[in-house]
Amino acid sequence: MTLPSQAAIVVIGGGIIGCSTAYHLARDHKADVVLLEQGKLTSGSTWHAAGLVGQLRSSASITRVLKYSVDLYKGLEAETGLATGWKMTGCLRLATNADRWTEYKRLATTAKSFGMDMQLLSPAEVKAMWPLMETGDLVGASWLPTDGQASPSDITQSLAKGARMHGAKLFEDVRVTGFEMKDGRITVVKTSEGDIACDKVVNCAGQWARQVGALAGINVPLQPVKHQYIITEKIDGLATDAPTIRDPDRRTYFKEEVGGLVMGGYEPNPQAWTTGDVPNDWEFRLFDDDYDHFEQHMMQAIARVPALETVGVKQMINGPESFTPDGNFILGTAPECANMFVGAGFNAFGIASGGGAGWVLAQWVVDGEAPLDLWVVDIRRFSNLHRDRQWVCDRTLEAYGKHYTIGFPHEEYASGRPRIVSPLYDRLKQQNAVFGSKLGWERPNWFAPQGIEPRDIYSMGRQNWFAAVGDEHRHVRERVGVFDQSSFAKYELSGPDALKALDWICANDVSRPVGRLTYTQLLNTRGGIEADLTVARLAEETFYIVTGTGFRTHDSSWIGDHIGEGLKATLVDVTEDFGTLSLMGPRARDVLAAVTDTDVSNAAFPFGHVREIAIAGHTIRALRVTYVGELGWELHVPIAATGEVFDALMAAGKKHDIRPVGYRALESLRLEKGYRAWGSDITPNDTPQEAGLGWAVKLRKNTDFIGRRALEKTSGSALKKRFAGFTVDDPDIVLLGRETILRNGEPVGYLTSGGYGYTLGMNIGYGYVRNADEVSDDFLASGDYELVVAMERTPAKIHLEPMYDPAAERVKA
Ligand SMILES: Cc1cc2nc3c(=O)[nH]c(=O)nc-3n(C[C@H](O)[C@H](O)[C@H](O)COP(=O)(O)OP(=O)(O)OC[C@H]3O[C@@H](n4cnc5c(N)ncnc54)[C@H](O)[C@@H]3O)c2cc1C
Repeated sequence: MTLPSQAAIVVIGGGIIGCSTAYHLARDHKADVVLLEQGKLTSGSTWHAAGLVGQLRSSASITRVLKYSVDLYKGLEAETGLATGWKMTGCLRLATNADRWTEYKRLATTAKSFGMDMQLLSPAEVKAMWPLMETGDLVGASWLPTDGQASPSDITQSLAKGARMHGAKLFEDVRVTGFEMKDGRITVVKTSEGDIACDKVVNCAGQWARQVGALAGINVPLQPVKHQYIITEKIDGLATDAPTIRDPDRRTYFKEEVGGLVMGGYEPNPQAWTTGDVPNDWEFRLFDDDYDHFEQHMMQAIARVPALETVGVKQMINGPESFTPDGNFILGTAPECANMFVGAGFNAFGIASGGGAGWVLAQWVVDGEAPLDLWVVDIRRFSNLHRDRQWVCDRTLEAYGKHYTIGFPHEEYASGRPRIVSPLYDRLKQQNAVFGSKLGWERPNWFAPQGIEPRDIYSMGRQNWFAAVGDEHRHVRERVGVFDQSSFAKYELSGPDALKALDWICANDVSRPVGRLTYTQLLNTRGGIEADLTVARLAEETFYIVTGTGFRTHDSSWIGDHIGEGLKATLVDVTEDFGTLSLMGPRARDVLAAVTDTDVSNAAFPFGHVREIAIAGHTIRALRVTYVGELGWELHVPIAATGEVFDALMAAGKKHDIRPVGYRALESLRLEKGYRAWGSDITPNDTPQEAGLGWAVKLRKNTDFIGRRALEKTSGSALKKRFAGFTVDDPDIVLLGRETILRNGEPVGYLTSGGYGYTLGMNIGYGYVRNADEVSDDFLASGDYELVVAMERTPAKIHLEPMYDPAAERVKA
């Protein structure tokens, strides 16, 4: 077969991800697709994978993606005639201590929430299932019967055959060497065997994806890390259908293979491979065996499976795999190049993800938008920070080292910090701020009172900051607090067509007079919520857009990508130009009035308005909004003046008892008020109607906008899911999200957010209640509710209105 000179879509890489993507592009979309592999199919990381296939993740969508993989692997042989080696052996996760056990109880509840049946077993039950295992130290194990194992090369060959059967053209020994680009798009893929003109490119080049991306100017922040496992000779008494085992307290995993065991692990001192380019001639290659480094796993594994002490080791595999700074893979449209899509960085679960990742990536490539909420794996979760290879390497090694550590709630990474600090960093540190990090920014999570050590002490129950955050919370409700939100992402959209562009992009009506703010969602074509932000009209042709810290790349890409063809509107990221001080609480006006000559009375400066005001000689954009349900202003200050303005507020606020407040109090305050958080409560899977945000959609106006058609189609018909709030009285309960919602004893959904409301003195959760017929007001109101928390049922009360709603005159007057 000769290399074509043209193709609609070129997929780069013949590992499991490239082959799965090509298969789905050809099967589901009948696309004209060419796959290029520089060596032989599977010759990168795929051929030497251990082949464990787990499904449960903390994101419902990613769990769905992994479940899809399993369904695909089960049935692929029937279609292609090539077996995948899929065996549904089930998976045991072992627990040797109380915190791990709590983690599994929560995990089992998450599994139920996502429609999977995870059970908890006693040590005796574990022993009966896996007699060769030493179980004396076990508290118990979780058991997911539908997990299993497969043969990585066989799946990939089967997918490749399926792709060919559906019309894809796959080429081996063809290396992509560069791209021709025009106006930020790839027009031609240059290869060792000639050029291919194309419309779209999918970068599935595994650990080479970073350097392949760089050829088109895009950043794929992954880090190759050495990962080892051994394959033993036959072990007497080991069943061929023995469940796979994960023994996180001993950092090891096991899988039966031809009567012996595959055993590997995640060490706390991982070994990065190069931070430079990966050699192109790394076909079917491995590193030398490193028994010194592997010794730590060997000792732990022998303690678990004593037969390992005497059985011979047939082979050691020491291969590179790409890992990422947050342990999640990387999917989607690269922000720097309009037509390069990425599927890479699979963190040693590429075999488990392969089928599903190819399915959603193919859909994404064809539609230009993700088919479901894939935010946790979206390439737009990164920023310029992730161009720093050493930073990416350090954070990735930390994430690798934590692969099997207990996942405590609210845990922060430690490496590569501090990286980006607000001008207030030193001041807040002096006030005992305990910082967290978000997209590289240090942000105060809470302030330790005198006598309390300013650091997080993690635990499964209430953590050491609980009471201090309660004080901060009450302070904002009763007096006044300042939040340093300088890390907010901020953009300016300007030009004669700026309004026209935003009219199309925003679901709410932004065509308001100069000086007005609009809270709006940005929708995809399915009517799902792609972003949630505030737009301030500064001038006829200038809009100031403010969104969450973590959404910086995502939201600017979404807006930039959807500015209509030929419109004169320019989007500029001005995040670092402005510090943001949110002055919130009933005494906020008193403080503000004391530092500015501008009239800040309600008549002169009503809710939902933006004004330029002067504080300490600096011109400030003051936005009258709130995310906490109190009177307040977001003050957007020229970055260099942030410290001075903060000092002025603190001095003027002294008599009003002003104090700095952190992000954990903010979370508690917004939960009480019922403000939705994008990424958890509202996602691309949810429409504004389902989320109870229909009031913020301009359906009654005769203006077209993205998502309008989808919403019109469903408007007037019954909603099958609706967002609701829940409270739980029991003070010993800790809500974190993903707890199952029971209505009259039946599961109807799960929590998307969970936390504690200090004013209410109750646990608070939010989530969607689902019903196949309709979720009517009556359906919601008439049920008896419980939440399943770490496998225990606890009574809950449903709320359809904000749980805390101070009289409107307090916030909006
Ligand atoms: C020791 C080890 C154990 C593992 N165990 C498991 C496990 O138990 N379960 C699990 O789910 N996952 C496991 N994994 C992870 C799994 O192997 C990977 O996640 C998966 O194989 C990644 O597939 P890929 O297609 O992204 O990458 P690859 O298989 O590396 O494929 C990328 C391909 O792109 C090609 N390419 C690169 N540059 C170019 C270019 N310029 N032109 C053309 N082609 C190019 C390469 O040659 C390569 O074949 C393990 C990994 C390792 C290292």
